[in-house]
Amino acid sequence: MVKETTTALTEIAQGIFELRLPIPFEDGLVNVFLFVDGDDVDLLDCGMNSEESLDLIRSSLASLGHKRLRKLVVTHIHPDHYGAAGVLAGPGRADLYLHRLEVPLVNPRYVELEQLVAEVLNYLLVNGVPAEEAEILSNSQRALSQVVAPAEAAVQLDGAETLAMGATHVRVEWTPGHSPGHICLYAAESGLLFAGDHMLPELSPNIGLHPQSTPDPVHEYLDGLERMAAYEPRLVLPAHGRPFADAKGRAAAMKAHHHRRMDRITAILAAGEMNAWQVALELWGPREQLYEKRLALQEGLAHLQALAVEGRVEKLVTPETVRWRRLSSPKA
Ligand SMILES: [Zn+2]
Ligand SMILES: [Zn+2]
Repeated sequence: MVKETTTALTEIAQGIFELRLPIPFEDGLVNVFLFVDGDDVDLLDCGMNSEESLDLIRSSLASLGHKRLRKLVVTHIHPDHYGAAGVLAGPGRADLYLHRLEVPLVNPRYVELEQLVAEVLNYLLVNGVPAEEAEILSNSQRALSQVVAPAEAAVQLDGAETLAMGATHVRVEWTPGHSPGHICLYAAESGLLFAGDHMLPELSPNIGLHPQSTPDPVHEYLDGLERMAAYEPRLVLPAHGRPFADAKGRAAAMKAHHHRRMDRITAILAAGEMNAWQVALELWGPREQLYEKRLALQEGLAHLQALAVEGRVEKLVTPETVRWRRLSSPKA
């Protein structure tokens, strides 16, 4: 039987290819991009560290004429984007480019987990998660570290760099919120925006407050959306789902979504002072899946934090608890 190797590979512009790789969550696929320049290929994101996924990358390079991998640029260090980095990049292999705010997340998350697991446990407890559940949730990080082979960044990005990706020049756009050092790549000449998880056609990317996040991720995320929409890209190429044209419309929908959620949380807090776990339960009800529970708490916290930053909610902290209280007369 002839093995189909190129079905997942689509040319989206001259010398730029989208490759869809399997992942065990979200819609089951992550989109990575190959940029061809002569015998070299630059890659944006690399999928998980699994043989099936790596075989697809290798067969794609072969089908393009046995190209050599030159750069690996990673939008952020989540397993579906960064997982195979350690296989593809490093000494004698491709150079890894990563935003510098992602660099310090790698070791605690994927290599030396103990300290982060302990930090997350404390964070769950002060936010009201019952002890037994907190124990299980804080350990859920361990499973993810198995599908990630870390690599060291050869170049740490700040944002605003011009990079040659294949024969295309792109500008690095720092878009924090979903992850502290999340980047998009914008190719001004062709109007292509490679959006990673920052802009997705259907899903709302998870924006959470947790020990490794930036302090006000919702506002940062919305700022980034506005900056990307202002480019009026011809086409947005997301890491999940299909490409889409209406960046402005999508940014407006996301903004409305987050504002609605903040309003709902303010309404929930009308019942009185609460911890974030209680707010998350009110918002989403009890979740079955452990991973979803943690995401729900992180999302709820991100919106509570945004409300506190805006002066609509009071955040009350002690070593034991973090509690939230609605302000009766919100500041303008
Ligand atoms: Zn992500
Ligand atoms: Zn993703």
